[in-house]
Amino acid sequence: MATIYTGPVFDMAAEQFAAIADHLAIPDDERARLLYPKRAVVVSCPIHRDDGSTAVFQGYRVQHHLTLGPTKGGTRFAPNLEIGEVAALAIWMSWKCALAGLPYGGAKGGVAVDPRALSRHELEAISRRYMQEMIPFVGPHIDVMAPDMGTNEQVMAWFMDTYSMYQGRTVTEIVTGKPVASGGTEGRREATGRGVVFLAERALIAQGGAMAGATAVVQGFGNVGSVSAATLVEHGAKVIGVSDHTACYVDRRGLDVAALIRHTERTGALAGYSTELLADPADLLAMQCDILVPAALERVIDGPMAARLRCRILAEGANGPTTPDADAVLAQRPEIFVVPDILCNAGGVIVSYFEWVQDLQQFFWTEPEVRSRLNHVLERSFTQVMERSAKDGVSTRTAAMAIGVEKVRNAKNTRGLFP
Ligand code: NAD
Repeated sequence: MATIYTGPVFDMAAEQFAAIADHLAIPDDERARLLYPKRAVVVSCPIHRDDGSTAVFQGYRVQHHLTLGPTKGGTRFAPNLEIGEVAALAIWMSWKCALAGLPYGGAKGGVAVDPRALSRHELEAISRRYMQEMIPFVGPHIDVMAPDMGTNEQVMAWFMDTYSMYQGRTVTEIVTGKPVASGGTEGRREATGRGVVFLAERALIAQGGAMAGATAVVQGFGNVGSVSAATLVEHGAKVIGVSDHTACYVDRRGLDVAALIRHTERTGALAGYSTELLADPADLLAMQCDILVPAALERVIDGPMAARLRCRILAEGANGPTTPDADAVLAQRPEIFVVPDILCNAGGVIVSYFEWVQDLQQFFWTEPEVRSRLNHVLERSFTQVMERSAKDGVSTRTAAMAIGVEKVRNAKNTRGLFP
């Protein structure tokens, strides 16, 4: 069925869902209701540029289902953002939240804009305007935003402030991923990357390996990639390759991740860090390593790339990095253990949930409390996925998605047609 969402990323989410629906023997007449977003909005966001001109950017928000509670999901600022990509990300959020046992449906949103081409003032203007346009559509018990690619804690602070000014009081619980100084939680910024490494280590141990001395490669050096790389080093692994949209570096003796982070904090990207360590980004994912962490874009591992992989653990920090074609290849390569995205990067939304709960109660937890509760939820989800995978004889991705889809389906079937 062609819809406004049709496009490569949405089609991928739909294809994955069809496979899970077949696996769960979901009747045809229930499928569209589970797959298609409940509602979506498109807005025009005008801002004054620094040169005095006016520019208009298209913004989106998609709420996938309203069955389990408010919707929850990130906000992406990216030049070629399309509503189909946003919808796919919202759908994946639904299965992710359900798998982790969070009381949310999935959502996602964003603006088709290159944040790197904006001044700080322009970024603030577009952030505030986007939230302003979203006010009729979101709320602490309706839809709660968070950061994603191209947005960060500062953008969340502007979102929260804009919504709060409209309400005439401070409403911290309208977004998560805020700075701690503005009602955010300890440990949110690091949550996704730390979760990726917690699960990669669990997978490595399940395979009879150990983190100490393991080698790792990380694609993407933003929030998820840089925190994953730093945490891998903290846990005794050696990061031998990293990349972002500007550069790719390889050093088999182990890169100095702390120095790379200092460099990106200073300059905004990896470019300019070194000339000797430069490598071809096309070969990064195919490097021999114990742990491979794609932490940038969707669909970077397609069928041919899946055949080239030489990792033991594929820990999917990004959303949707592996295509269904690649999954078919990986099904024939049992030597590679996949920690699927909806499990692997769930640390972000789990700690976002903790932040929302703390904001609603105005009662804040310590960093160790956040960490230990995060690890508890990740451990529970990992065990559920492993058990389901063994019981049904299916891949870890099929197992993870089956658990998520089943929970949403059960709730829909007990509630009725409305949500
Ligand atoms: P970010 O904007 O902080 O960083 C994105 C990184 O990807 C940047 O380093 C950028 O240079 C790099 N990148 C872009 N194009 C690239 C290319 N062609 N090759 C290599 N690198 C490239 O974004 P983020 O928040 O770290 O998100 C990264 C991924 O993780 C996305 O798929 C996002 O949906 C997912 N994710 C993020 C969170 C979170 O809490 N931030 C949670 C769950 C999942």
